[in-house]
Amino acid sequence: MHETAVAQSLIKTILDEAARQKAKPVTAKISCGVLNAINDELVNFAFEAIAKGTACQGMKLDIEHKPIKGKCKNCGAVFEFEVFNPNCNKCGSEDFQLFPDEPLVLEEIEFRA
Ligand SMILES: [Zn+2]
Repeated sequence: MHETAVAQSLIKTILDEAARQKAKPVTAKISCGVLNAINDELVNFAFEAIAKGTACQGMKLDIEHKPIKGKCKNCGAVFEFEVFNPNCNKCGSEDFQLFPDEPLVLEEIEFRA
């Protein structure tokens, strides 16, 4: 399951960082694109299970889903692509190029000393 692998790698990174800072991690901020989307509930569930007994136990995950962006070939505007409204939000053109999806990133870990 994708989410279990994500949770495992998150915990490993957080534990390494926590050991380095000698602090207790409280919150982790994660972001991902809509195509790399993870199921928040499944990640939280897997995270909790794997974090049990480690310094990550009881941590809160903050998951941000970033939209895909498109660039209009007609007017050059950069806009957030919406599946239900697939055209330039400036000129309405359907001729645009999509940017690559955002990868899953661990943006920030908050520690409590
Ligand atoms: Zn346009």
